[in-house]
Amino acid sequence: MILRFGECTAEIDADATRRWYAAHPLVNDCGCGGCENFRRWTASPHCDPRIRETLAAIGLDSPNLIAELIPWDTPAEQYAAHGGNWYGGFYHVIGAVKDGAGLLEAERDSQFVPERFSLRITDQFALFLYYNTNQAELLPDGFPRPVLQIEIDAYIPWLLESPNEYLITNGG
Ligand SMILES: [Zn+2]
Repeated sequence: MILRFGECTAEIDADATRRWYAAHPLVNDCGCGGCENFRRWTASPHCDPRIRETLAAIGLDSPNLIAELIPWDTPAEQYAAHGGNWYGGFYHVIGAVKDGAGLLEAERDSQFVPERFSLRITDQFALFLYYNTNQAELLPDGFPRPVLQIEIDAYIPWLLESPNEYLITNGG
């Protein structure tokens, strides 16, 4: 299937991606609060169905099939404005950028603007491309080529009972 990420498009082999993860299950069992909260969110109604649908369309049957998850420290004002902690991270799928000249150029620019190459799914969840085809981090051995790394830019509410350890408040 072909998916548009702002200025460029990517052709993704959803079936082959699904087969890879069926044969090589990816389990995030990280014990940090950020990952635990992300898993709680994916299992909750807070995770918008449009996010699941978009990921399923590219062969990722669960938002938990994420290769790397980065829970950023989030200032209280930012949490309030976006309704959640700020998260980065990325997925790996089998696919390639089709018209990536602008992306290649932007990748070398220190002023990379993710919005130019993003697919916004909800107010709180966007996917974007950073690398062109076949550049990926933390790729498992044997992952089929071409590989496409798809980044996330997300705000996820804190759903754990424990205090939000990523929230930065001024003073107190
Ligand atoms: Zn973690």
